[in-house]
Amino acid sequence: MTVMDEARRGRITEEVKAAAKEEGLEPEKLRRGIASGKIILTGYARGERCKIVAVGEGLRTKVNANVGASSEFSNIKIELEKALTAVRYGADTLMDLSTSEDLNEIRRLILKETPLPVGTVPIYQAGVEAIRKHGAIVDMGEDEVLRVVENHAKEGVDFMTIHAGITQGITAQLAEHPRVAGVVSRGGVFLASWILHHKAENPFYKNFDYLLEIARSYDFCISLGDSLRPGSLADASDWFQIQELLTVQKLVERCWRAGVQVMVEGPGHLPLNQVEANVVLHKSLCKGAPLYLLGPIVTDIGAGYDHIVGAVGGAVAAMAGADFLCYVTPSEHLALPTVEDVREGVIAARLAAHCADVVKLGERASRHDLEMAQARAKLDWETMYKLSLDPVRAREVREKGKTKTDACTMCGQYCVYRILPAKQTGCI
Ligand code: SF4
Repeated sequence: MTVMDEARRGRITEEVKAAAKEEGLEPEKLRRGIASGKIILTGYARGERCKIVAVGEGLRTKVNANVGASSEFSNIKIELEKALTAVRYGADTLMDLSTSEDLNEIRRLILKETPLPVGTVPIYQAGVEAIRKHGAIVDMGEDEVLRVVENHAKEGVDFMTIHAGITQGITAQLAEHPRVAGVVSRGGVFLASWILHHKAENPFYKNFDYLLEIARSYDFCISLGDSLRPGSLADASDWFQIQELLTVQKLVERCWRAGVQVMVEGPGHLPLNQVEANVVLHKSLCKGAPLYLLGPIVTDIGAGYDHIVGAVGGAVAAMAGADFLCYVTPSEHLALPTVEDVREGVIAARLAAHCADVVKLGERASRHDLEMAQARAKLDWETMYKLSLDPVRAREVREKGKTKTDACTMCGQYCVYRILPAKQTGCI
């Protein structure tokens, strides 16, 4: 029986209780969310070694950090260090996006050494292995693609991006209606090339019932990938993106009918004034299934600072109802992220998520802001560091400037809290 089956039968499992406690909610509320598909539960495949994380409506906005070696740079120790850095700075989940030679080893190490739910993108491994075995990505066999999914599931992967929404019919239109940035999802490109080469249907779409059987057997969550997400503002909300979403909508219903947990991945590059509309459209078409967004990237010119661009888009998206933000690092569009990039990316995405949660969840989230404001009014630096998302950075910045007072170097003796101390201004 899957987690969704149990929830539909009214059972409140230990995992549901753990996630509810973490969210500060009644377990029954979480159970109902899981039963309806509006919440997914993840992190139960590896038993007590892994934190249970719930994603969806009415919950704290979650943040994912991607790690994984590339064909250009492959170092298992560094990828593990990135994963542990993401854990330290507050990521809720990790995704291993490796496309290097060591991809089995890296995935197993991340599953073994980290306490967070782990997601993967099986089509990457299928493509990399096809090149190794047969010489080209388009030589992936359908069975080989499905075998990768099953192998990841056997190892305890918690959620997998399955690019089932890019069909042969949609792909056929690519040459007819060119886009500025084309297809920017790596998994989407692998599959579009395969579909065009073989003049055949996407193996994930064609074999979706079999995929659901695997997902039921191992009870992992399917994350429906957005192969045709816009890769530039010019392509935002275009025909391809929406056609894929209409296919994804039907796949969500098939997952739910099979008792399989599912979330929907969303765009991509979007101008700021299209972010809310996209969230509402995804949520409405997919009947409230949890929405997982990369960024969104709200301008194309932020190279080197795309973690800030992603945080701006992420805050607006989460406020509009997105449930899960995939971090963006300063290396986005430029290079494989370093350990320091991972730290900056996680902090930026966590800030975006929290800004939205203050609005979405009210006091459940904003009490941290209140505690910080109270500590600030008392010039209580130790409490301020403790409440910061990055206490190390906060301490470093303050201690860079030596001050003779208990204020900081910004105003020194003219510090507002020294001139009129908190108790005299009525600060609580
Ligand atoms: S010195 Fe200025 S910036 Fe620093 S704590 Fe006081 S009021 Fe704030």
